[in-house]
Amino acid sequence: MSPFLLRKMKAVYAEPVAYHLLTADGEIPLNPLLGQKVKLTFTGRILCLQCGRKTSKSYQQGYCFPCSQSLAQTDMCSVRPERCHFHKGTCRDAEWGQAHCMIPHTIYLANSSGLKIGITRAYQRTTRWIDQGAIEAIPIATVEKRLDAGVIETMLKEYYPDQTNWRVMLKGAIPPLDLVAARDEALGYLPSTVQFKEAEDEPLAISYPVLTYPSQVRSLNLDKQAEIEGTLQGIKGQYWILDQGVINLRSFSGYEVTFES
Ligand SMILES: [Zn+2]
Repeated sequence: MSPFLLRKMKAVYAEPVAYHLLTADGEIPLNPLLGQKVKLTFTGRILCLQCGRKTSKSYQQGYCFPCSQSLAQTDMCSVRPERCHFHKGTCRDAEWGQAHCMIPHTIYLANSSGLKIGITRAYQRTTRWIDQGAIEAIPIATVEKRLDAGVIETMLKEYYPDQTNWRVMLKGAIPPLDLVAARDEALGYLPSTVQFKEAEDEPLAISYPVLTYPSQVRSLNLDKQAEIEGTLQGIKGQYWILDQGVINLRSFSGYEVTFES
């Protein structure tokens, strides 16, 4: 098959989640490859997913340096939503901001490696939870725009972590939590002036295609090892669990690779 630029896997909610590798020749369903040998080979070239320019290093998961300095999606506010500055008229790309930030966002609690808080564009909440490897998640509220979600998340970060411990997440046995109780508690931390559009009742449970969880999490890296080969034991979040170790495909966005199975 022809080389292609690595991108985050497409994940479709199902029991378990159905993963697809996006290649130049189309999508490859990965779940059927569980238990089989797979091989990823890095050609040595990294190209920007936005402009196609060759870059010595991938910035912010798949961009060249100039794009990382000029695109709205690589601005500081992409990781610090409470700093969204669209309303000041200074968005790097107002059209992009209108389509991606000035739309409903959901503040949620997820159980990935334990309880965590986060925000996501409302329409892609399930994808977001899968990307984090959450085994369950529940919305707290959906608000009109990214800035509002960022402000609420900042308040709630006083009470909840906002990071996933990926090593713990990949080891598998994450105890379930009472997310309804956690959500109700979280709502109690918010000032009554905050207007909510919704607060759903039921948590969403997510299961992953995993045959065996690793007892030790060894991280594989295409920069250090151009050929990564092993038996695919599972997929969780954006990670492949191989018998040789684990690889976070998303960290290598823009890497030109070939894939064999
Ligand atoms: Zn670029």
